[in-house]
Amino acid sequence: MSPSPPSSIYEPVTFTPYSSRVVYINDKDRWDLNAAAVILDNFIVVIDPMMYPNQARAFRNQIETIYRLPVKFLFISHEHADHVWGMGGFLDKDIEIIAHRQLAEILKEKFTTAWNQQVIDDWKVEEPEMAPMLELMNFKAPTITFEEKYVVHDGELSVEFFHSGGHTGSSSYAYFPADRILFGADEVNAHVWPFISDPSGSPERWITFYQHILNMEIDMIIPGHGPLVGKDHIQEHLDFLLKLKSAVKTELAVGKELTVENVPKFGYPPAEEWQIPKAVEFLNTFYKSQTLS
Ligand SMILES: [Zn+2]
Repeated sequence: MSPSPPSSIYEPVTFTPYSSRVVYINDKDRWDLNAAAVILDNFIVVIDPMMYPNQARAFRNQIETIYRLPVKFLFISHEHADHVWGMGGFLDKDIEIIAHRQLAEILKEKFTTAWNQQVIDDWKVEEPEMAPMLELMNFKAPTITFEEKYVVHDGELSVEFFHSGGHTGSSSYAYFPADRILFGADEVNAHVWPFISDPSGSPERWITFYQHILNMEIDMIIPGHGPLVGKDHIQEHLDFLLKLKSAVKTELAVGKELTVENVPKFGYPPAEEWQIPKAVEFLNTFYKSQTLS
């Protein structure tokens, strides 16, 4: 069910402050995965829960202790396990879970099938070394859902959530205007090839998302994976997505398909070998269906 146990599930987690109100945590062993938290005046909002619930619990305990505020909201950006499983680390307290409406439906289904209690129990038997993580693995359906936008207010401060729909159909991102910081989720995988093969995703929505955020007031972006980046990095990714689109359309126009060999060059490598072949397959299918419709 999972890759081999990462060393980080046993190691203490430490967060990094970005500003007096924004902190983030990174797991090098899990594709450079990030989660973050916004410290408001009366409570904390967590942006994605990490992959492992014991990591998530440690993160929450640290920030609640240091900032002397409770976590009141947990935002889930999309349905991939590395952005959902950590949820179990938050469920001992009454925390609101925010997600896009479509994501809530997908999660409700996954919680009763692929990730149900029987699956977790079987996993404990198969991989007893994962016990520290599996003991806390637990799921709950989102309690707040939105279509295009949702805003959490605390006095003058706010954290905003928006649907993007590029990396997966349900993908969303967050923005903290007071610090001009964007939490890009997996539409922003910094310094690596884009993860552009989920069948529910849309390269067109992804391009629109990049174009939109390039016009937002942003000083820094905390990506779903990888180091913090600025808008210049988004421009590089946007240029590449446009090149990819054009390469696919050029092939389709002459009755052919894009192949791995004629994928345009990009300055950042794939994080996984399967990324480029899967992306090619997905993009051919996606733009072919667009031509037909
Ligand atoms: Zn993802």
